[in-house]
Amino acid sequence: MADVRNWQLGRTMSYPYPESHPDRQFAFVFNINRCIACQTCSMACKSTWTFSKGQELMWWNNVETKPYGGYPRHWDVKVLELLDEANSTAGVEPSWQPTTAADREAPYGSYDGMTIFEAAAAETPPVRQAVGYQPAPDEWSAPNIFEDVPHPGRPAPGSLGLEQDGAQLPEHVAWFFYLQRLCNHCTYPACLAACPRKAIYKRPEDGIVLIDQARCRGYRKCVEACPYKKSMYRPTTRVSEKCVACYPRIEGRDPLSDGMPMETRCMSACPGKIRLQGLVALDADGSWADDPQNPIVFMVRHEKVALPLYPQFGTEPNGFYIPPRWAPRDYLVQMFGPGVDEALARYRAPSRELLAVLQLFRATQKIIFRFEIEEGPKVFETEIDGKPWSMYDDTVIGFDQQGREAVRVRVEEPIYQRPAPRVNSI
Ligand code: SF4
Ligand code: SF4
Ligand code: SF4
Repeated sequence: MADVRNWQLGRTMSYPYPESHPDRQFAFVFNINRCIACQTCSMACKSTWTFSKGQELMWWNNVETKPYGGYPRHWDVKVLELLDEANSTAGVEPSWQPTTAADREAPYGSYDGMTIFEAAAAETPPVRQAVGYQPAPDEWSAPNIFEDVPHPGRPAPGSLGLEQDGAQLPEHVAWFFYLQRLCNHCTYPACLAACPRKAIYKRPEDGIVLIDQARCRGYRKCVEACPYKKSMYRPTTRVSEKCVACYPRIEGRDPLSDGMPMETRCMSACPGKIRLQGLVALDADGSWADDPQNPIVFMVRHEKVALPLYPQFGTEPNGFYIPPRWAPRDYLVQMFGPGVDEALARYRAPSRELLAVLQLFRATQKIIFRFEIEEGPKVFETEIDGKPWSMYDDTVIGFDQQGREAVRVRVEEPIYQRPAPRVNSI
């Protein structure tokens, strides 16, 4: 095991391979608050990559209902239980500690529990690279079982504090939310660490994690080790497969993209406009280059409005989520770490710049490398949490890899009035 730096944990951790980082990293931000669970993203992926024999149960992108849903079923509860078991055997009480380290090194504090890699190293004898489990075949059978089942269960009207005639906004006693998932193209992939054939690799040009289909022998160690369960076995070919991050689009080989890196199929298909994907430049030591004009870097590192999914697993995932406003905080902290309160405060009353950047979601299929904001007039003011808040009709401009303007969006949507003769025509 080598010592590697994990900024999401705010400390070094053990990993089977020494640090080696790509020039830039595939990363994305999902705004959970906006997802309508239409599954357009899931179908966009399936109709592109997993429509063949043997792939029937494969959903490289899936959207599941929390807290009960999961694909494969209860994947996160099972991994959390394995980690709990390992921590309690070692006498460790996992928690997040505030730290004096620079914000850049430990933005959420320091996690003192064991990761999936450290838990495996503590086993006697240590026989695997990461603790994990192999889901049973029936656990893969539904991409969103328990769809729209709220916590707690299905309470009768009038019970558990619910209104007799149904719950009313903004107070929800019963709650659920949708969690959109794909491979996180982790900085320290558990799938890669566990593969005895060294068939899994992380591309130096964009950090995308791929399985070499010719080297894979279908041992399924990656399926067992990936805590997010995003490596899947295909019985017809007897090898494992996973999200390929639509790499031809990232390489600018899609005919529509004019040679420029383009967002993936699941990202660009989203009608809820919840997804923004990017490529983040890395410094030589693997930390994110301080590039506040990159919208992903701005939201994750500067505004801290988007958080990693289960950072305590230790893979340093590169997918980040704006948490849902209505779910209980302790559940969200377990899922996204201790940055939840700050992220939600910033989302509820966004800064002028953040409000503009949020308009870039799904505004273009080209990957945005840099944004600029042109200031507009104040159009609204109110109080949020007892503090004054103003909205400005600014314009945000996104630029592609070559610095060319790719998109221009205003904060306030323009209203077009049809001329009287065509008032009801389409
Ligand atoms: S396409 Fe977008 S809105 Fe629809 S389920 Fe997927 S992430 Fe949610
Ligand atoms: S999410 Fe899983 S499959 Fe994807 S890179 Fe991370 S460990 Fe590997
Ligand atoms: S990035 Fe491409 S391959 Fe990966 S889940 Fe999305 S559509 Fe599928």
